[in-house]
Amino acid sequence: MIEIARVDIYHFCAPIKEPILTSFGKIAARNNVLLRVEDQDGAHGWGEIWSSFPPCGAENKVRLLQSIVLPTALGRSYRNPAEAWRDLTRLMRRHALQSAEPGPFAACLAGIDVALWDLAARKAGVPLWRALGRESLPEPLPAYASNLNPAGALEMVARCRARGYRAFKVKVAFDLAGDLENIRRIAAGLGEGERLMLDANQGWDIAEAREAVPAFGDLPLDWIEEPICVDDPIEYWAELARLTAVPLAGGENILGQGAFNAAIDSGHLGVIQPDLGKWGGFSGCLPVARRAVAAGRRYCPHWLNSGLGLHASAHLLSAVGGAGILEHDALENPLQAPLAEPFPALVDGCFQLSDRPGLGVEPNLEAAGQWLQCHIETTAR
Ligand SMILES: [Mg+2]
Repeated sequence: MIEIARVDIYHFCAPIKEPILTSFGKIAARNNVLLRVEDQDGAHGWGEIWSSFPPCGAENKVRLLQSIVLPTALGRSYRNPAEAWRDLTRLMRRHALQSAEPGPFAACLAGIDVALWDLAARKAGVPLWRALGRESLPEPLPAYASNLNPAGALEMVARCRARGYRAFKVKVAFDLAGDLENIRRIAAGLGEGERLMLDANQGWDIAEAREAVPAFGDLPLDWIEEPICVDDPIEYWAELARLTAVPLAGGENILGQGAFNAAIDSGHLGVIQPDLGKWGGFSGCLPVARRAVAAGRRYCPHWLNSGLGLHASAHLLSAVGGAGILEHDALENPLQAPLAEPFPALVDGCFQLSDRPGLGVEPNLEAAGQWLQCHIETTAR
């Protein structure tokens, strides 16, 4: 049994020189919320909560944890992390509905879930990829450089290539002529075996997407991500899928098993991208990823916070298999490595997990201390 005896909340915020540009706005600082969960025996595990946008959302989640989620979770005992996630989701259901904040609650529960899986695997002395069902040490995982801003993207791709990346995802949905010119130049410069993806961040309406999606159709793209809003009618998604041979991708803004099942089964998305710090943790995202792969889709985890959650994504991708590729934040991210040590360098565009127990990494709280906004200790008694 695992009794949730103590939980420490850490909120870090690191300003960055060059804001991340998306079709929905700028992100000028890296916010990371980490949880350290300890059980009745003093064993511990780490989890991370999605908190990149909006910046004030990180503070909201810290307060939700401190005032509602953890007072409910502390002192409870569970046979395994999945049981904890299901029960805590049930216990928080009315709070999530009443507050009209299902997303922040889901993210808090996802962070607890990852920490409990890490704790359980550490306690059993096995790496998480094994706890999640894989038998042998994973091969190096192909990874892509994510988050690339449109301005200066060609130069940024060259810099990422020099750092070992072999696949690149660039933001679009600003102005179509400029986007097309940008993407064509990058595509023309790709080396052998290199891959390119686009992310519109839900930035087009259906009329714009009808024009934009086929306009990129002659380029060798791995996928076009979130061309329209995730809650646009399914007929719109079906229409866009018919307009291009390039697979459509999405999942970072889908919440809930039912919504994922519908997205996988509809067939309009060739690439399914749940974010395990936003909804579900391992307990929710493992079945989603397995269902996606069984249905012939590619499971490619969404992740853009610290290196801790990146490791969690890599463990899940390794356990599930298929033709997925790991999202690897390539922009300025001062907290990426310090919150997950030892942080591996990419080799030939690939990310290598270890056979150390659990996530296999530990935050270096001293190194990250300059960006610490708050540390809150909560205990069962
Ligand atoms: Mg995206």
